[in-house]
Amino acid sequence: MNIAVLSTNRNLYSTKRFVEAIETSGHQAQIIDHSKCYVGIQQGNPTIHYRGQDLAHIDAIIPRIGNSLTFYGSAIVRQFEVMDVVSANPSQAITRSRDKLRCMQILSGAGLGLPITGFARSVSDVDDLISMVGGAPLVIKLLEGTQGIGVVLAETKKAASSVIEAFYGLGNNILIQEYIKEAKGTDIRAFVVDGKVVGAMKRTAKEGEFRSNLHRGGSAEIVKLTRDEKASAISAAKAMGLTVAGVDMLPSVRGPLILEVNSSPGLEGIEAATGKDIAIEVVRYLERQYAVKQAAKPISVKRKIKKESKL
Ligand code: ADP
Ligand code: MG
Repeated sequence: MNIAVLSTNRNLYSTKRFVEAIETSGHQAQIIDHSKCYVGIQQGNPTIHYRGQDLAHIDAIIPRIGNSLTFYGSAIVRQFEVMDVVSANPSQAITRSRDKLRCMQILSGAGLGLPITGFARSVSDVDDLISMVGGAPLVIKLLEGTQGIGVVLAETKKAASSVIEAFYGLGNNILIQEYIKEAKGTDIRAFVVDGKVVGAMKRTAKEGEFRSNLHRGGSAEIVKLTRDEKASAISAAKAMGLTVAGVDMLPSVRGPLILEVNSSPGLEGIEAATGKDIAIEVVRYLERQYAVKQAAKPISVKRKIKKESKL
């Protein structure tokens, strides 16, 4: 197979590991910077070009779409989908997972455990919103933040009101969330591929920090998930429509609470903590999907011929 890793940075650990896994599996790997792809849209003949090359030879893609390029990146993934190329994640699910509010709404609709979360627009509703999530301390989040940036812990109601008003004043959309004290700066990242947890780690925030993101100085170790945690992670990925997902959860007295579902989860932390080859799991999924597609092809071609002969 010709498998493309869509990534704007070929030096990232995850990009390099995917290339390695593709090549050790006997396929051809190509890193494609999706920000430099351009598309042709016309009846029955969708195309993608990259640095003058027509990408019609690509059989499967692993999208690694960063937060700053969600719109353009998912449009490129969608174009590959239109061309019947197998993707590690659907474009629609990538867009869905990028918005923390949308993610929480979908997970809540699927009946999954979550921290109590509120969303409002007007400053006059802030007091009520704060009580809705159980008062201070509480967590305030920018809808499209990532790697812990834009996640603030407000210890008092006064601090919360000021921060919320400041965010509104700057025209930012935020959500307000119950602070899960039991978490004590730790969370769990479950890496899900095709309905299975292929690795899990516990992340612990550095001293004096409540955000356990590795980018914020957190550390990681392997963890064995409870049956509940495993089931929640799998259901969360499924509800979001993601085949490859990094599901972040907080253990609490009321069971696992899901914080977010990432569509381009990093490999470095999880592979180091678990000692597992996670990249290969994604390649195995693409192989299975590609085989299904190939097996279905002769039938669709047959159908087309039959249909045409009737005309
Ligand atoms: P990001 O997308 O920036 O990673 P998250 O929602 O995952 O944003 O939050 C970052 C980190 O902050 C989490 O991994 C967790 O350690 C901590 N955190 C987030 N929300 C809460 C909460 N409601 N209660 C306690 N800790 C939280
Ligand atoms: Mg996170």
